[in-house]
Amino acid sequence: DIYPDRPNSAGLDFADERVLAELSHSLSAGADHRWRAEPLLADGEAEGTSVAVTNPADRRDIVGHVVEASADVIERALVDAEAEADAWAQTPGGERARRLVRAADLLESRRDTLIGLLIREAGKTAANAVSEIREAADFLRYYAGRAQAFDPATHVPLGPVACISPWNFPLAIFLGQVAAALAAGNVVLAKPAEETPLAAAEAIRILREAGVPAAAVQLLPGPGEVGATLVGDARVRGVLFTGSTAVARSIATTLAERLNPDGSPVPLVAETGGQNALVADSSALLEQLTADVIASAFDSAGQRCSALRVLCLQEEIADRALAMLKGAMAELRVGPPDRLATDVGPVISADARERIEAHVAAMRAAGRPVHRRELPAACAHGDFVAPTLIELEGVGELTEEVFGPVLHVVRFAPSDAERTIEAVNATGYALTFGVHTRIDERAADAAGLSAAGNVYVNRNIVGAVVGVQPFGGHGLSGTGPKAGGPLILRRLLAACPAETGL
Ligand code: NAP
Repeated sequence: DIYPDRPNSAGLDFADERVLAELSHSLSAGADHRWRAEPLLADGEAEGTSVAVTNPADRRDIVGHVVEASADVIERALVDAEAEADAWAQTPGGERARRLVRAADLLESRRDTLIGLLIREAGKTAANAVSEIREAADFLRYYAGRAQAFDPATHVPLGPVACISPWNFPLAIFLGQVAAALAAGNVVLAKPAEETPLAAAEAIRILREAGVPAAAVQLLPGPGEVGATLVGDARVRGVLFTGSTAVARSIATTLAERLNPDGSPVPLVAETGGQNALVADSSALLEQLTADVIASAFDSAGQRCSALRVLCLQEEIADRALAMLKGAMAELRVGPPDRLATDVGPVISADARERIEAHVAAMRAAGRPVHRRELPAACAHGDFVAPTLIELEGVGELTEEVFGPVLHVVRFAPSDAERTIEAVNATGYALTFGVHTRIDERAADAAGLSAAGNVYVNRNIVGAVVGVQPFGGHGLSGTGPKAGGPLILRRLLAACPAETGL
């Protein structure tokens, strides 16, 4: 058994000065490194025109270059994936698992270099980069462990599977999808987000170094059309998608047009956006609430699908909670994340910055109170958004997910607690939800009323742990089965024995 209650991956102790000194040294050594991503095919790398990938915290920093997959390259990859599908499917589950576990070990052994890459390519803070590498390793080991006993004679995979991922977790979500598909015995065509192909290419190189055959895991960088081409191709027998609700809907529409050769619908696992709320009643401990709200709304510059978008405060505590939140926001260190003390880095792109700023401007124009600080001068060359707090009159004012460091706050009267949670449910999104109260019955009632997939009581609402807190939503937030839980593997099999328990 290669996964006997194996503990989750360990992090770094940022309070240890030696750890920080080593990390600083390694970050400086890699500061000028130029990374590369090209289509990684069964028989090598495809050539083509390369495009620069720049650092969102400082657009003058060229992090590397990417070669996008052309239509010919996608076709070659599909042919080779089909040709490899049987061999990988017939590889015993334990053997596939061993290679995934080895990939997790390799990933951890390159942690310092990968931290540097995640900081520069995705604008991650060092602490977020460490968490992301841990999560990626956890996914590899977790799915390896769950699938190690799969018997090729009875656990029949789907065949070629497309994995289409977002930029906000370019290693963890990217590798999580790929690991689940490979563990179940499928061959993978991976389409990383356009903004973060470099981390994805490193991940694929590591998987191959760990012994996954090149034809079983191919990388196809490029724009959304690369994903659309894969989804539309009958040789693709399943799709794992994480990203926006709009793109998930278009993928579902395309897949609905065809069936797999066995006559079944093409399986789709889509994990999408959220309109995540946290409700605090008058018994909440305000110091704890403040820390948890700041972490939930502003960590990763709010670019987590689980991030807090709307805080609902019972009116008795609202003024005091708002004063404490504003005080805590003033303490956040916003700036380039290559400085290890940074709390809030950039957003991913100029487009993202403009979309978020347009929302803030629209709210201001509608007369909603907006609280934010000026950005420091160090942010001048990147795409930064100052942490922002906007007071709304009701949850219903939020129509779209605002994917950045913007926290909305609404007040509610004690008699309106239930209606407030119903208004959150009525957004149609149901990903994460939090409740802060010191009255157990209220916590249970709120959790019961919320439609969200992951509910947190008296803590922050981000950072679900693989294998411990399977993660995923309902409604507009996703199809399930949850990531980091066992059921997703069943969705990636065409058949398996009933007694497997999947
Ligand atoms: P996105 O725009 O939907 O893109 C996700 C992926 O889909 C990218 O690789 C994208 O390629 C590709 N794509 C775009 N159009 C496509 C099409 N027509 N067919 C197939 N693939 C297509 O999302 P994003 O902006 O990268 O990520 C942010 C969103 O992801 C947020 O809504 C967030 O809430 C959600 N998210 C959800 C979870 C979860 O677990 N529920 C986790 C993380 C993020 P390009 O990059 O080239 O456009």
